[in-house]
Amino acid sequence: MKKNILIVDDSPTLRASVNFVLTGGGYNVFQSENGEAGLKMLEDLRKKGERINLIISDVNMPKMNGLEFLRAVKDSKSLFKFIPVIILTTEREEILKQQGREYGAAGWMTKPFKPDLLLSIIKKFIR
Ligand SMILES: [Mg+2]
Repeated sequence: MKKNILIVDDSPTLRASVNFVLTGGGYNVFQSENGEAGLKMLEDLRKKGERINLIISDVNMPKMNGLEFLRAVKDSKSLFKFIPVIILTTEREEILKQQGREYGAAGWMTKPFKPDLLLSIIKKFIR
């Protein structure tokens, strides 16, 4: 069965290009435009009995940014805390990466992304 990946990014262009790569890699893709919508998507899918196997999230987004989203997903009381989250962002600052690690990010990739690299990182977490 196809594995489900959730892309959380406020850029429709970025979502479309990641979607293209992931569907080409055989994954089923869901998309949300910010952290708040991402949390709602996770909850809505859970209610339908669907589960997300991996999340790829931007950092800079309106309403709820990627680090706040990551923290909510990885909260000890969260039902989604075991889902690996890869951050995909233009941010390169070490302090943000460190915050990402503290909150439990599985990886940190910078844009523009290399499709092959993205797919190989995903394969480390999904089998
Ligand atoms: Mg953004």
